[in-house]
Order: sequence, then structure tokens, then C-alpha cells
Amino acid sequence: MTGHNERLLLGPGPSNPYPEAMEALGRPVLGHLDPDYLALMAEISAQLREVFGTANELTLPVSGTGSAGMEACLASLLQPGEKAIIGVNGYFGERLCEVATRGGAEVVRVEAPWGRAMDPQALLDARDADPDARLLAVVAAETSTGVRNDVAPLAALRDTDTLLLVDAVTALGGNELRVDDWGIDACYSASQKCLGAPPGLAPVTLSPRAVDVMRARTVPVRSFYLDLGLLHDYYLAPTPKYHHTASATMAYSLHAGLGRLLAEGREAVWARHTEIGTKLQDALVKRGFGMIAQAGNRLAQLTATTLPEGIEEAPLRRELLARYGIEVGGGLGEFAGRAWRIGLMGHAARERSVVALLGAVDELLS
Ligand code: PLP
Repeated sequence: MTGHNERLLLGPGPSNPYPEAMEALGRPVLGHLDPDYLALMAEISAQLREVFGTANELTLPVSGTGSAGMEACLASLLQPGEKAIIGVNGYFGERLCEVATRGGAEVVRVEAPWGRAMDPQALLDARDADPDARLLAVVAAETSTGVRNDVAPLAALRDTDTLLLVDAVTALGGNELRVDDWGIDACYSASQKCLGAPPGLAPVTLSPRAVDVMRARTVPVRSFYLDLGLLHDYYLAPTPKYHHTASATMAYSLHAGLGRLLAEGREAVWARHTEIGTKLQDALVKRGFGMIAQAGNRLAQLTATTLPEGIEEAPLRRELLARYGIEVGGGLGEFAGRAWRIGLMGHAARERSVVALLGAVDELLS
């Protein structure tokens, strides 16, 4: 234990929460069926509807991190033996395949190289080839490569029986995402990135037709904890039923983070992330860093970058943390050992993060 070291969290998440979200952690703990807690959850659901851009009634934060949101959606919507078409162009597309396979689904992979965006038409063609697929899943913002996958064209799935599932763990609150306009049936995120709260909650939303699919299951959801039907009966039913001891502390914090985001405005927050991320990317390129994500589909809130010729990434990253208290992430998969992942998300998406990081890097490289 080295004490309470303050960090500038510029990795792929968690990011530094908004001050209001940290202050909220000190509020009194409430019971998980306390009327005040349930009222707080109802407010969070309303906030999340705005942030997701949806009217979906089933919109709630699942206890757990982004992976809990992923597992809750896959476990609740897929029955064993059903087909899932999954876009894979990075680490988190792979994780979707892994989780769906463990749940007993038959996975059809549609691939693109790491660093390139998924071709939406290739995904739609895969659905035409497998019209009985229960769902098609894609990662909106691939945190492993900094690639933004186009989701809007997948709205065409509305006219089919295949549900559209979108991973918005890094996307939500960071770049444009419109659940209802884009025909998204199921979407999950995480509290610790662009929503500006600590890790611990995974916002999830399901469209009415996804709820119908879930309610029509013949095989119960294998996970009790992540059964979205049971969670719906806990949080949002007229007479809430005990399901698990949910954390009011985390709920207060997420409520504060979402409040800050909505006060700034959804589109203004997207614009802030774009402006700050682009500033960093331009400065990195000038210093000889390379961009992993293809131009045109580059995220602003997460930059995956190769280091200048002859510079080893791990020692530099360690020095950045040890000397300046600045965290950035290492590369994943084929980019392990030769890339950084830099997040400018939520409260960290501001000019001072860029200035601090570049100043430290310049000093270490001089
Ligand atoms: N999906 C994406 C795109 C992510 O970036 C992450 C985490 O970084 C996850 C899923 C898993 O989320 P968590 O690590 O919060 O469980």
C-alpha cells in the first residue's frame, strides 16, 4: 500500500470521475428497497434514456462493470443453440464471441482487420445468409484499436427478426449514439468511461421487441444475477421485488455523473470529446506517433497509437506513471508491446489532460 496516490487517468478506463460523482460516494448508504433508493433508480433510468436516446422502458444500470452489461444482454436474449452474428475487429468483438459461445449460442463471425472499421454491408449480408439469427452484435467504439464502427446503417435490421445489439461501453457519452433512431434493440455501457463515474454500474437498455423476445424464452436465463427480466421486476415494476443488494452508493455517483453530462448537453459532450481528442491526435502525429485506427473511423475519446521509431512503450509508460502520476494503457492483441491507448473520456476530456500528457512525454523523450 503506497497511500492514496492521485492519478490522471488517461488510459482506456477508468477515467477520472467528475468531482460531483466522487462527492456523491460519501452520501448515506440506503437499503436496496428503500423508497428513496427506488426513486433514485427511477431518476437514473430517465437520465439514461436521454443519454442513450431512447424511449425504452427497460433502461437500468446493472450492478457490475461493462462486462456485466455484455453478459446480461447476451444471456437474456439468446437461448442455447440460437445463432448470433458478431462483428469482430478487435479485442471486445472477440469477447462478445467468447461470452456468446460460453452461453451456448452458435456464433457466426464477421471479421475486419484490427484498426479497420467493420463493413456494415458485410454484417447485413451475413444476416441475409443466416436469416434465423436471433441477434447481430457490434462494438460501437472498439477500445482496443480506437476504431468507430458505423452502427446507423444496421437500422435495416428493423425489418427483420434479428435483434441489433450494440456495445457502447466506450461510445456512450463520447460519440454520437442514437438507440431509437438507429434501431438498436439492446445496448450496454459502463459507468467509468465517458459517463464520468467510477467503475461499478453497467447501464443497459432493451427495446420493446427485445423485451418480447426475452419474455418469450422457453429456457430460463442461465444467470440469475444478470437476468434482465428479474432486474426489471426489481427496479421498475410497480411493486419492486428483492433480487440482490444493489449499491445505493454507486447509484448516487452515477446519478451525479449523468446529471453533469446532461447539464452540459449530449451533443455538446460529444463535441467536447471530438475537439480534445483531435487536438491530442494532431499533436501526437507531429511527434512521430502513428494512428492505428483508419482515418474517417477514428474515435476521439480513445486514441490507439504506435510509438515513434526506436522508443519502447512499456518503460516510457511506467515512467509516465511513476514520475507524473499519469496513466495511459498499453496495446492489446497484435498491438501489445508496441502501442499505447490514450483515453480522454468524461471529466478527463479537457485541455489540461492533453497539455499535461504532452508536456510529460516531451520531457521524458528529451
Ligand atoms: N466493451 C468495451 C468496448 C470495452 O472497452 C470494455 C472495457 O474496457 C468492455 C466491453 C468491458 O468492460 P469492463 O472492463 O468494464 O467490464
